[in-house]
Amino acid sequence: MIEPIPVNQPLLDGKERQYLNECIDSGWISSEGPFVRRFEEEFATRVGRKYGIAVSNGSVAIDAAVVALEIGAGDEVILPTFTIISCAAAIVRAGAVPVVVDCDRHTWNIDIDQMEAKISPKTKAIMVVHIYGLPVDMAPILALAEKYNLKVIEDAAEMHGQTYKDKPCGSFGDISTFSFYPNKHITTGEGGMIATDDYNLAERCRSLRNLCFQPKQRFIHEELGWNLRMTNLQAALGVAQLERLDEFVARKRRMGKRYTELFADIPGLELPVPRTDYAENIYWVYGLVLKDEVPFDAPEAMRLLAEKNIGTRPFFWPMHEQPVFHKMGLFKEESHPVSERIARRGFYVPSGMALTDEQMERVAAVLREVMA
Ligand SMILES: *Cc1c(COP(=O)(O)O)cnc(C)c1O
Repeated sequence: MIEPIPVNQPLLDGKERQYLNECIDSGWISSEGPFVRRFEEEFATRVGRKYGIAVSNGSVAIDAAVVALEIGAGDEVILPTFTIISCAAAIVRAGAVPVVVDCDRHTWNIDIDQMEAKISPKTKAIMVVHIYGLPVDMAPILALAEKYNLKVIEDAAEMHGQTYKDKPCGSFGDISTFSFYPNKHITTGEGGMIATDDYNLAERCRSLRNLCFQPKQRFIHEELGWNLRMTNLQAALGVAQLERLDEFVARKRRMGKRYTELFADIPGLELPVPRTDYAENIYWVYGLVLKDEVPFDAPEAMRLLAEKNIGTRPFFWPMHEQPVFHKMGLFKEESHPVSERIARRGFYVPSGMALTDEQMERVAAVLREVMA
């Protein structure tokens, strides 16, 4: 039998084992251990921020960022409909209203031309989400935020090591968030980071992360927080992975180029945009969209690839089409056709850091058969 090609496999062959052994040998395994602070500082420096707050995953990083910005009842937050549930969930859980915008047909990022019309007197923030490898065009969004006095939350979960006009992703707006899930450019197994330049926001996030214990009277609470702490074991992985971020980004770019060459003459496929005038794709995942003339949808293509042991994942399902939000009375009758189309026609092929040239060639050969 041919070895299956999983949709993701991380590379853990740097100093991960050495640092994990240090945790075990020293007995520091909880969030109190020294790797947590070190990871926060090194990561914040890498993305050009003053403060890093390590948390247990990228979703709760968004939860904490929204609450830290005091977004709540009566507020609206603008975000792309084409994103992960974590973004809209954080807004809804805070008691605010998510207002979604369709995405661009080529970059799959939020359609900036449609944003200003969504701003109302209730709008408090814009949540920017960089999708799949290309950053959002930040300049016009920052200009809108300035014009209407809005906060900006930047979800940079998929953008470790990416830049927008030579400035690191994760350094824009009031507060940025990251995930270290194993399919991101660097991983801690589960994990996340909040990054900001604002001391007060950083302190609020630290407090929210730690149940809002108070420095003076620990068990008396003025506010409700969560336990979102990252362990020293996770941070040890993070420090080791961060040492290799440049190498990982270069590796993903090479993989993206290779897939693009291999897929170039397969009919029926829309391939990711390799670059814009502000960034070069880092291919967090290598997404494909079936052209309109292809007589089947993504689930069928994915099924045929699975039969040949090639792992895939569907694209995000738009927020305005989520049953959970319809039940809450949100997004009724809304239509965002670009996102609806790519949700149905889009999927991604194996894109993990450990993927080999040989595996990419096999993915291309099988995809060629499927598309024929
Ligand atoms: C992965 C991801 C998240 C969530 O991160 P988790 O660590 O899996 O909770 C949030 N936003 C985006 C854009 C992501 O890709």
